[in-house]
Amino acid sequence: MKALLVAEYRDGQLLGSYQELMGFARQLGADYAMFLVGSSAALPAFEGTLYLADAAQVGDYNPDAHKHMLLSAIEQEQPDYVVFSHSSYGWDLAPRVACNLQASQISEVVEIKDGTMVVPVCNAKLRRQVTPNTPVTVVTLQAGAFGLAEPPTGNPEVKEITTDVLGSITFTGYEQAEAGGVDLSKSEVIVSAGRGVGKPENMSIIGDLAKALGGDYGASRPVVDSEWVEHNRQVGTTGQTVSPKLYVACGISGAIQHLAGMKKSEFIVAVNTDKDAPISEVADVLVVADLKQFVPALTEKLKDG
Ligand SMILES: Cc1cc2nc3c(=O)[nH]c(=O)nc-3n(C[C@H](O)[C@H](O)[C@H](O)COP(=O)(O)OP(=O)(O)OC[C@H]3O[C@@H](n4cnc5c(N)ncnc54)[C@H](O)[C@@H]3O)c2cc1C
Repeated sequence: MKALLVAEYRDGQLLGSYQELMGFARQLGADYAMFLVGSSAALPAFEGTLYLADAAQVGDYNPDAHKHMLLSAIEQEQPDYVVFSHSSYGWDLAPRVACNLQASQISEVVEIKDGTMVVPVCNAKLRRQVTPNTPVTVVTLQAGAFGLAEPPTGNPEVKEITTDVLGSITFTGYEQAEAGGVDLSKSEVIVSAGRGVGKPENMSIIGDLAKALGGDYGASRPVVDSEWVEHNRQVGTTGQTVSPKLYVACGISGAIQHLAGMKKSEFIVAVNTDKDAPISEVADVLVVADLKQFVPALTEKLKDG
């Protein structure tokens, strides 16, 4: 089995997400080559073929040009899988390529199980196992779902790839999301509230513990969507990525999109009424309790101490 991994480059930098694509290919048991519109000054580390186009010539993003070059690499490699990150780049390019190839597209894969692709459905409340039925399959991978135990090494064998396709879309650049509020990526202690907090009035419980620990408070997406907390405190794939010394997850189940934003925290404490909540897989300590009782009691102890 063969996979072609589509690495990403932005503002002069190779994105580390290519390692997740490698992790996926290895789990799949596939040999792989890589495709990158980037620069020879920032190559991914691996042993294998790299189809490299020069971003300085075609731009960090140009859907028609990138698609044209990727289709050429696919033609040469004849992969069974074409693998993207589930990023703005992957969202845009993967369907264009799948359409050209008349290939199945499976988006937001979080796991490979019994040879099938597992994807979240119903706002990640359920998971669906999917099997492609076309000779080539295009997949996008959820951030944080796959990875390598060790950083990759090696030097790829570079095959240069060019195009004279200019296309009808002009890429004007990336725009940094508006900064505002707290930058959680710098916090050493974060106490986060999940849906288990129950109602907005209970958010003060979380804020009080964060204050007692000398840290900041964050939240999972449902808490932000309910407007109990401003968006710039959301942790996860569509929020901030954090790596504090201590992360206290209160009433958070541990959906993959939340884990992707906080699993690199040094020490994780989870407070949850459900001992089997998925957060327990990454937690160093799991407190099986009602947060409304446990968190204020802990805050009081800390204040006394
Ligand atoms: C494209 C996409 C992007 C997403 N991006 C993000 C993201 O960036 N960040 C994010 O967080 N989510 C994101 N999500 C949503 C994600 O899939 C989950 O739905 C979400 O993380 C669940 O939030 P939660 O854990 O707070 O809620 P739930 O999954 O509902 O979990 C609530 C937990 O609280 C526990 N609980 C209930 N009552 C109590 C109590 N009294 N005391 C203690 N524990 C209690 C329950 O046992 C449960 O484990 C995204 C989803 C999609 C589809």
